[in-house]
Amino acid sequence: MARNKLIEERVQALVSELLAEEAGMELGGRRENIDDIENAMVRIGDLVAREVGMQKLKLHTEHPPEHPRCPQCGHAGERRGEQTRQLITRRGEVPLTEAKYSCPKCRRHFFPSAGRLGA
Ligand SMILES: [Zn+2]
Repeated sequence: MARNKLIEERVQALVSELLAEEAGMELGGRRENIDDIENAMVRIGDLVAREVGMQKLKLHTEHPPEHPRCPQCGHAGERRGEQTRQLITRRGEVPLTEAKYSCPKCRRHFFPSAGRLGA
């Protein structure tokens, strides 16, 4: 619970800073209404959610294994660069960049992070 309180305080500070920077920028002189406020809630909330997803996914993918086993035959895979795909989450699409491997024995491409993340 203490952790959530700390996060809540940090989010409050961040949002205050963002709103102060945005104040009066986007309405072209008209008064803000409830739709504008709700739109800002969704837009900023989605941006925060996407950033949380991107940073947490990066922690799981930034140090890929050197020679992971092929999920089909168990032979050691060889690195073949990386590939980015869009993960569909409850808060929209989040890019996921994963190390890509190929199996020299059965010529299959695979992504070890997919198994680890369940994605
Ligand atoms: Zn294989």
